[in-house]
Amino acid sequence: MKITFVTGNEHKAQEAAEIFAGLVEIEHVSLEIPELRHESVSEVAAGKAAYAYSVLQRPVIADDTGLFIQALNGFPGTCAAYVQKTIGNNGILNLMAGYANRSASFKTGIAYHDANCQKSFTGSIQGTIVLPRGCNGFGYDPVFEMDGKTLAEMTVEEKNKISHRAIGLHALRKWLADEMH
Ligand code: IMP
Repeated sequence: MKITFVTGNEHKAQEAAEIFAGLVEIEHVSLEIPELRHESVSEVAAGKAAYAYSVLQRPVIADDTGLFIQALNGFPGTCAAYVQKTIGNNGILNLMAGYANRSASFKTGIAYHDANCQKSFTGSIQGTIVLPRGCNGFGYDPVFEMDGKTLAEMTVEEKNKISHRAIGLHALRKWLADEMH
């Protein structure tokens, strides 16, 4: 079986290919998808997967990630991509000046869509927002610390073992494996 991971980010498709190895083959397609607004990463991911399926007409996976900062009442949430593009990590740090509560979580929605069914899974991790450290990864990685290391201080292999996206992808893998037996 082959599933198409629809994402603009090749690293995500590679991560998925490693997680699904031995079960299904992952093909990467970069498709421009109109992104619906919703507070839930699962809903946004499901909308992306439904759109991708309508265009490609084959089994697809789409994902969406949000960053939820407690002191900012969950901001930027599912607007994480827009906020990263506009004010970036420095803007987030400025917004948090004076807040002692640095708690934040990453949440990823993973949506699968084929001719017969649509399923969504989520994965999340808890951490704290810190001054930037490390040079691996992308996006918010340098300012998101977990167990004493920012995600940007971890190797790709380390991050892929514990990441919000990996947790969601493993949940989908388990469901697919059960469906296929
Ligand atoms: P997207 O839904 O994957 O496009 O992610 C939304 C925003 O969060 C983008 O700005 C990404 O760069 C950022 N992002 C997604 N996943 C991660 C991650 O694992 N680490 C850091 N930033 C991420």
